[in-house]
Amino acid sequence: MSFVRLPGLIDVHVHLREPGATHKEDWDSGTAAALAGGFTLVLAMPNTQPPITDEATFQEALSLAAQKARCDYAQYVGAGPDNAKSLPSLAKWAAGLKMYLDQTYGPLRLDDMRIWMDHVENWPKESPIVAHAEGRTLAAMILMAELFDRPVHIAHVSKAEEILLIRKAKEKGIAVTCEVCPHHLFLSEEDALLIGEGRSEVRPRLNSREDQRCLWENLEVIDCFATDHAPHTLSEKDGPNPPPGFPGLETILPLLLSAVHQGKLSLEDVILRLYTNPKKIFHLPDQPDTWVEVDTDQEWVIQGRELYSRCAWTPFEGRRVKGRVQRVVLRGQTAYEAGRVFAWPGFGQSIREIGLS
Ligand SMILES: [Zn+2]
Repeated sequence: MSFVRLPGLIDVHVHLREPGATHKEDWDSGTAAALAGGFTLVLAMPNTQPPITDEATFQEALSLAAQKARCDYAQYVGAGPDNAKSLPSLAKWAAGLKMYLDQTYGPLRLDDMRIWMDHVENWPKESPIVAHAEGRTLAAMILMAELFDRPVHIAHVSKAEEILLIRKAKEKGIAVTCEVCPHHLFLSEEDALLIGEGRSEVRPRLNSREDQRCLWENLEVIDCFATDHAPHTLSEKDGPNPPPGFPGLETILPLLLSAVHQGKLSLEDVILRLYTNPKKIFHLPDQPDTWVEVDTDQEWVIQGRELYSRCAWTPFEGRRVKGRVQRVVLRGQTAYEAGRVFAWPGFGQSIREIGLS
């Protein structure tokens, strides 16, 4: 056995499905999954039902989180067609602003660049903007970071052309940062057959081997690893209209630790991208007396039915990994140990200023 102590990990991109789709996940099950995966802080996306786009929906989400979250959290607000002027009043209490510019469905997708500009111009510079922006949309978003002289964080970069463009933008001093998801690092379109057609649906899609190789080759351009934890039930994934998305909170760390064993990156690389950089980019506070104990030598096989996530499946089913979370301590309390979650619903705290005036 080889124990290491990591800081409490931070996932800047999770979908906890509440309000609106609690048969897939809720604040309780999703934050239990987070703790089991070594995360003590998660930032929740706003594309719930209803989406979090104004003070009333934001208050509802925060109230649910306050009652049910087992780990610490913050909630994003979503950019819509007509809320660019009103949303900034919530910035102080929000994880940041999420802008959906590509390949997503529902009321939050924005196609008009005038709306993008309104949001980028109005959202306070000290609060993060996270953009779902692929390919040429990503190029437009980088331009906006430059034009409006503010930082922009790009969600789930998956393609060679995207990571290379971000590299160039960073070399020019543009304030762009990015995250990459475990499924784009550890799966490619070649794995889709094995996973199954419906189950392998995800946005951005699983990429080519070439894209996957390019992400690994440009590791130093990747600021954060983020799961984009997006659970759906198996009956939905295996049904006639499989929704895109994978669960990821409980599998990312063992996958990364296995890659450390294989010499693909170092433990310091993992800590930088799951703690240090997220904390810096998203202006997150210290979590005192908080850490994660990991047995880096424990070998085990990933099985969906053992997950805390309500969806109870994983695209990594049957994968042998090396490295397992043993214990998570959050603000001095044992929140998870040896397969059991001890933090109760409501133990989690908002890391932004609490309560709206
Ligand atoms: Zn997402």
